[in-house]
Amino acid sequence: MSEFDAIFVGAGHNSLACAAHLARKGWKTAVFERSAAIGGAVQTREFTLPGFRHDFGAMNLSLFAGSAFHRKYANELKNQGLEFAPVADCFASAFPDGKWFGVSNDLEKTAARLAAFSAADADTWWRLVAAFPGEAEHLFRLLGSPMSTRALAGTAWKLWRKKGVAGALDTGRLLLSSPRAWLEENFETPHVRATLAAWGMHLDFAPDIAGGAVFPYLESMANQSFGMVLGKGGADTMIRALAGMVTAAGGKIATGAEVAEITVAGGRATGVRLASGDFHVASKAVIAGVAPKALPGKLLPDGSGDAGFDAAMKKFRYAPGTMMIHLALDDLPDWSAGAELRQFAYVHLSPSLDAMSRTYQQATAGILPDEPVLVIGQPTAVDPSRAPAGKHVLWVQVRMLPAEVLGDAAGRIEPGPWDAIKDAYAERVLEIIESYAPGLRQKILGRAVFSPLDLERENPNLVGGDQICGSHHLAQNFLFRPARGYAGWNTPVSNFYLTGAATWPGAGTGAASGFMLAEQLGGR
Ligand SMILES: Cc1cc2nc3c(=O)[nH]c(=O)nc-3n(C[C@H](O)[C@H](O)[C@H](O)COP(=O)(O)OP(=O)(O)OC[C@H]3O[C@@H](n4cnc5c(N)ncnc54)[C@H](O)[C@@H]3O)c2cc1C
Repeated sequence: MSEFDAIFVGAGHNSLACAAHLARKGWKTAVFERSAAIGGAVQTREFTLPGFRHDFGAMNLSLFAGSAFHRKYANELKNQGLEFAPVADCFASAFPDGKWFGVSNDLEKTAARLAAFSAADADTWWRLVAAFPGEAEHLFRLLGSPMSTRALAGTAWKLWRKKGVAGALDTGRLLLSSPRAWLEENFETPHVRATLAAWGMHLDFAPDIAGGAVFPYLESMANQSFGMVLGKGGADTMIRALAGMVTAAGGKIATGAEVAEITVAGGRATGVRLASGDFHVASKAVIAGVAPKALPGKLLPDGSGDAGFDAAMKKFRYAPGTMMIHLALDDLPDWSAGAELRQFAYVHLSPSLDAMSRTYQQATAGILPDEPVLVIGQPTAVDPSRAPAGKHVLWVQVRMLPAEVLGDAAGRIEPGPWDAIKDAYAERVLEIIESYAPGLRQKILGRAVFSPLDLERENPNLVGGDQICGSHHLAQNFLFRPARGYAGWNTPVSNFYLTGAATWPGAGTGAASGFMLAEQLGGR
């Protein structure tokens, strides 16, 4: 048994960022991770062949690069080896009619592509990009502040002072809009609408879901204005740097160390019991970066002492799942829509708003989509160091899929457990890519397929393969993430806190929940 000031359950990047800050404030910290490797959804491994480094989950580290944690600790992270690979050609979509549209950080380039579709859309783009700094200031303040009615009122007040009533209401309307509403109001070209709407599908914002417009808006404007970054050599550069900061400040990180119970006495968290049977004491805080379903009856065997909180944790809603297909390739895909697509970090195959809506509907109904949204990452187009000379890796994210399969929209795959059907479904995905990039199959040197179930096996926070650890729809976001009364990372058990994607401000690599909690506990 050892004694610490703070004990962390899980070594996701939020926990690591929180541990790093607290350790530097003099707290004695320990992080216990059940897997053999730290990083949770942010890991890089040789899944296919030696020398081919694949990002298991997150590939785009722009949120981390732009985070408050990175702003404060850029030098320390750099000293611990953090390196980014900047992206100029950020994202694009290829379409069945042979056309494509893409956003590069060179505004003239993007605008020229838009003008080839529609002069009006190009004008809109220039206008939106010019207005972005004024809008971003408020949106980033909202997303980067602790969530409480007081903080919301403060943000609203600043917004009103800067933009007046009409301007503030316009920002509020953007926050409430669905992707389709915002896209149809602003752009006339279906290709442009579909290219931007694909960003909603990275979360669980299908085109018709209220509250989803802000994600396509922020991603496209931020990519246009600042570009994008990947991790040099792999996304795990960020995890190694965070872990380096924790241990350099005297913190301990243990892998293969599953926490089986958070020990509670008199309504206060006192430490953890590991699956190995070891106990460890935490005098100031136990901080869990876990999915809400892991709490009542499991990590908290007798519950939290508050029936309302326990019920909310059990009812917490997860989004549809993801399949990841990692390919080792002889060469990048030959996109028939245009050779320029080979230089983009992401190519989306999501032909229309209606197709995306249908796919989401199918997945939520338990049906394998006939036409899943494909997010195709080409990290070696940006960072060749991830593969042997001249070779490539392809990162294929298949959105959206049911956790439990009840049927197949294409009528070709017999429903069954994911282990039995994942290869057949991966074949469907490869067929779709092949139809946009003929010859892909001949370039494949190795492949690894992770079904939604495999994702959850790797990291239990990815419930049913949900890559965002809980729906971000309005009823479960802002003051309601993970539940009303608990948006401040608090729980009914004193000294016990939550962090991670299930908590405000949600999924992504921004380390925001971990860092805001760290500052709340340990000061700035
Ligand atoms: C396929 C995929 C693609 C993504 N792409 C992007 C992207 O490109 N850009 C982006 O910004 N975001 C992306 N995301 C989202 C982002 O990666 C996650 O939201 C984020 O990494 C979650 O971090 P976290 O701190 O919540 O912890 P997690 O990464 O979920 O890690 C939690 C850790 O806790 C451990 N754990 C759980 N229970 C226990 C226990 N009882 N005892 C000990 N350890 C435990 C788990 O094993 C895991 O290591 C992606 C996610 C996935 C899955």
